Parts: sequence; structure tokens; C-alpha cells
Amino acid sequence: MVTQDGLAAEWSDLKGTAHMKDQTIAIHAGYTTEPTMHAVAVPIYQTVAYEFDNAQHGADLFNLAVPGNIYSRIMNPTCDVLEQRVAALEGGLAGLTVSAGSAAIHYAIINLAAAGDNIVSVPQLCGGTYTLFAHMLPKLGIEVRFAENDSAAALEKRIDSRTKAIFLETIGNPAGNIVDLEAIAAMAKRRGIATIADNTVATPALLKPIQYGIDIVVHSATKYMGGHGTTLVGVIVDAGKFPWTEHQARYPMFNQPEASYHGVVYAQAFGAAAYIGRARTVPQRNTGSALSPFNAFQILQGIETLPLRMERHCTNTLAVAKHLQKHAKVEWVSYAGLEGHAHHALARKYMGGYASGILTFGVRGGFDAGVKFYDALKLFKRLVNIGDAKSLACHPASTTHRQLSESEQRAVGVAPESIRLSVGIEHIDDILADLDQALAAA
Ligand SMILES: *Cc1c(COP(=O)(O)O)cnc(C)c1O
Repeated sequence: MVTQDGLAAEWSDLKGTAHMKDQTIAIHAGYTTEPTMHAVAVPIYQTVAYEFDNAQHGADLFNLAVPGNIYSRIMNPTCDVLEQRVAALEGGLAGLTVSAGSAAIHYAIINLAAAGDNIVSVPQLCGGTYTLFAHMLPKLGIEVRFAENDSAAALEKRIDSRTKAIFLETIGNPAGNIVDLEAIAAMAKRRGIATIADNTVATPALLKPIQYGIDIVVHSATKYMGGHGTTLVGVIVDAGKFPWTEHQARYPMFNQPEASYHGVVYAQAFGAAAYIGRARTVPQRNTGSALSPFNAFQILQGIETLPLRMERHCTNTLAVAKHLQKHAKVEWVSYAGLEGHAHHALARKYMGGYASGILTFGVRGGFDAGVKFYDALKLFKRLVNIGDAKSLACHPASTTHRQLSESEQRAVGVAPESIRLSVGIEHIDDILADLDQALAAA
């Protein structure tokens, strides 16, 4: 079995950059020039399988007795660099890449909950996550209990002996709420429950949830990490700190022999890496939402400029928020970077006042004026995505959150007239000019 020491050695690259700053980690973590061809850029290992030296080597690999690659549904050297890089940026122990953010969330949950269990979630969620939680997981027997709001007290009220995790988005998409991570992590620790944070909107360039006690971080790297709207990728990062063995009754998956992987007891065999080890060898190995190495390469390229881009996304978005706030045709603006916002103090506490690149606002005149504004946009793209270098606009009520009833929409933070902007990194003058001409048309 791979011991904790063995794993630590395997992840020495990650440790080599651990003392460095984000801007350096984003460019170097997880890769040292490979020894055969001396490629400086991360090679794309477009292969399904890896040849065994002999039968014994194959058996040793399958027993996890030696490190090495077997089959790209479970691991791939290009994806491995991305896993190490994101884990390093988040300050976690290890990561797992999957084919999309949605798959990361699905696996993060089924890796610790089964039929009869429940998880407790904040209500402010991205549309796809809400649908997974409200309609799909219950069909698998996993109940998702939505708290009344995103406070630790509201989440705690819904916990019982079958609660396996608390789920939150660090910055809600599109609600823009910023959760009090420290308070929620402290409550969850007291109750012996693991916390899962979707850090897609904030990105580790602005906020590292693990620093505040969160156990598992999930990402749609499709968004800011990739940064160019080309590639779907999901990542799970394990802080490696949750004491699974202290909570045997709540977490049998890490403390009982795993029948689907020749009886391994994850907490014993993988130590601190029990959660991520199981995520790879149970959900990923058996259901196969594997990441293409080419897509991993694309996201690695994006991450190199993540800290730089996030700075510009934040300053451009604050300028847009201030501009819209003063505009006669705008009814309301919601952006936690604004001093008057209810969550501005949390933006200060967790992100130095930054609040990422998503803002929502309402055009005066309600739904119809909103649609006129939306249709008049020229630079902003009308689509359902966020985190692109390009400025994007979406009307959640008719698209991302269309499957939700109006009361469900309001609960997740979407009003009928809400327009969600994902402000890009174009010149601010051109961004504001496009918004002004579209508002004039509304
Ligand atoms: C887009 C998004 C997801 C889903 O990610 P995909 O990569 O599109 O599957 C999950 N969470 C948040 C916050 C998102 O914005």
C-alpha cells in the first residue's frame, strides 16, 4: 500500500513551490522539465493506457504498492500536473480532475454520501448545482436539505445524524453572496461534519477556503481558471485535514473495507489523502467522468495568468458597479465590492475588498426593459458562461435558472429582471460604452 510518506514523496513537486506566491505557483507547481525530451511546456499525454514492465509490475500498480500510471480514466500525467497545480494554489494536499465542474460536485458528494444520507446546502447556488441537488441526488436517495440562508446557524439547524457534508459556494453564482467560511467551518468541526466549498467564482487567487477550515474545495475550472471560454474542466481539492477515523459512525466509506476496491480501508491505506484517494478509485474509476489531457493542458495555460486576470476582472467589475449605480436607468446593483453591499464586510474579511467579476443588476422598467437592454448589447456576449476574458451577459430567469419556479429563483438569489454580467478584461472605457448604449436603448 502507498503510505502517507510515499504520497508525500510523490507530491514533492507541490511542496517545492508551497512557500512561493500564487503568481509563481500558477506557472510552475506540479511540473519540472520531463527527463526524456526536456519539454518545458507540460506535455499532452494523449494515451489511454501505460505499459507494464511485466506481470508483477501490473499487479503492484493495481495493489497501489508502487506509484505509476495504469489507465487514463483513473490518472494521466498531464491531468496530474493540473491536479497538483490547483491543489498547490488552494493550499490543499491533493486534487482530482474530472470532465466538468458538475462532475466534480457530483463526485465530491457521492464520495461521502449514499442512499439514506443527506447533505445540507446553502440556498444560493449555480443553476446546474441546484438542479443536481433538488432533483437528481434525491432520486439516488441522497436528500439535500437547503438552509434558509447562508449563515452557520441556518445550516446547523438542518443537520442530523445522517448529514455527511455541508455544501456552499464561497461567492454564490449569480447571487453574489459571500459566505462566512470561518463561522461555517467552525460549526461543522464542532458537529464532526465535512465541508465542501465551490470556489469557482472567487478562485484561489482571491480566496483560499482551506485556510479558513474548509475540508474539500470544488471547482468549475471551465470559468476563471481556464479563463478563455474554451474548455470544460472540474477539480476536487482535498485539504487532507478531516479526521475521518474520529467519526467512524458518520463516515463508513473511509473506515470500512471498500468492496469495489478489494477491501481497502481508505482512512488506513491513504491516511490524510483518504478522501481524494477514494474519489479517484471509486466514483472516478467506476463512472468515468475523466478529463481529457488536452483539456487539462488548456486549463494549465489559463492558470498561468489567473492571478493577473483576476486583478483586472475585479477592478473592471468595481468600475462597472459604480457606473451602473449612478445610472438613471438602473434600479439596483448587487456587487459585494461596493461599500454599501450587505456582504462588503465579508468581502473585506476574506478577499481584501475584492469580489470577483460577477455582478447582477436590474434595469428600471422590469423584465421588458431588461430584455431590451440585453438585446442591445454589442461587446458583451449574450450567453450562459462566466469567467471568460470576454465580457458576458446572461438573463438567469430565462436561461440558467429557467428550470426553477419563481419562488425557487428568488431563494437562490435570482429576480425576474436580474441581469448577470461577467465583466471581462477588455479596456474599461469600451465596457462602459457598451453598457451605456444598451441602457440608452432600454
Ligand atoms: C459553471 C459552474 C458549475 C458547473 O461547472 P461546469 O464546468 O459547467 O460543469 C458549478 N459551480 C459554479 C459556481 C459554476 O459557475
